[in-house]
Formats: sequence, C-alpha cells, structure tokens
Amino acid sequence: MSREIKTAKSANLMLCLCCHHLNPTSALRCETCDEPVYIRRRRSYERTLAWLLTAMILYVPASIYPVMTTIAFTRSQPNTIVGGVIELWQQGSYFIALVIFFASVVIPIAKILVLAWLCFSLKIKLKTHKKERTVIYKYTELIGRWSMIDIFVVAILMALLQLGGILIVEPGIAALAFAGVVIATMLAAEAFDPRLIWDTQDEDHH
Ligand SMILES: [Zn+2]
Repeated sequence: MSREIKTAKSANLMLCLCCHHLNPTSALRCETCDEPVYIRRRRSYERTLAWLLTAMILYVPASIYPVMTTIAFTRSQPNTIVGGVIELWQQGSYFIALVIFFASVVIPIAKILVLAWLCFSLKIKLKTHKKERTVIYKYTELIGRWSMIDIFVVAILMALLQLGGILIVEPGIAALAFAGVVIATMLAAEAFDPRLIWDTQDEDHH
C-alpha cells in the first residue's frame, strides 16, 4: 500500500528549516544561511505532547471559569465561554455567537485533537496516509499562525458589545487561561516535526 519514498534523511541530507537548503547530515550549521540545522526537530514528539497536555489542562479553567461578566440592567452575571455564546444566541446575536463559538471552542479543540492524533500515529508507527497527514499538519500550522485572532475576536467583540451600550462586559480569569491554551497549542504545532511521519519506512530497512 505505502510506496517507497526516499527522504532526505535516507540520502544523508538534511533540510534547513530557514532557507530550505539541503545540507549534508554532518553539518552543524546551514551552508548557505548559517542557521543551526537538525536532521529532525529535537525531542519533537515529547515536546509536542508536553505542550498539548498543557493546552488540555488550561482548557479546563478556560471553560469552567467566567470568561466575562456581563452587567445589564444592574444584573451582574458571570459567563463561561459557552455560557456567553448561549447568552448572545438568546439575545439574537447569532453571527457574533457563532464567531465566538468557532474561535474559542471549535478551532482550539480541533487543533488539539489533530495534533494529538498525529502524535498517536507516530507512536503506533502508522505507515498509511503519510501524505494526508503531512497536508493536515500543514493546515494545522497555517491556522495556528492565525491563532492569536481567536483571542482578538473575543476581545474585540467584547468591546463592540460595550460600545453598543447593551452590556458592560468585564474580562474574567478564563480569558487568561484561554490565552494560555492558544499559546500552548501554537507551541505544540511548532514543536511537531512532520518529517517524522515519513520516517517509519526508513526504520523498516534497519
Ligand atoms: Zn539555511
């Protein structure tokens, strides 16, 4: 099923992640741009798992503690992320509710699940769907670069709600935990080395 694909590593070459020049594996620094080069990102699997675990742990306070306290008509109500989404939905702000729901629930959880699955596929030395897994990682990393938007979306929308005079919104402790989730997920994606996906066939020859 899986085709034999020659990797740079199997040809005694290693890619510079900075300028994409192929260096001999004996090199310590890139021949063209002088950046340090590695055959694979150091301790990639362990670092990815550690950051994923951090993100998962931080997601607990991010979801159970209030992310904002809405004050309307002298009624003060602390809201969790999901509680806030439900509140906005009930007020008829369907679009804002959906944007916050995607930015703060769907996308972060999807990123964590995808990276956890990629790690798991390395652990069980999965030999199929290598190209698909590489592409999935590429998109996860691409989305990851825009992760800070998750926080900005929530912050800007809170400001908009305040300007609208509908509500007074104060940030809660979960906002900080959520920022931690986003940062830990970005670092997990950064630590993951997609080239490890292609190493399973190399190991077969040894
Ligand atoms: Zn280079």
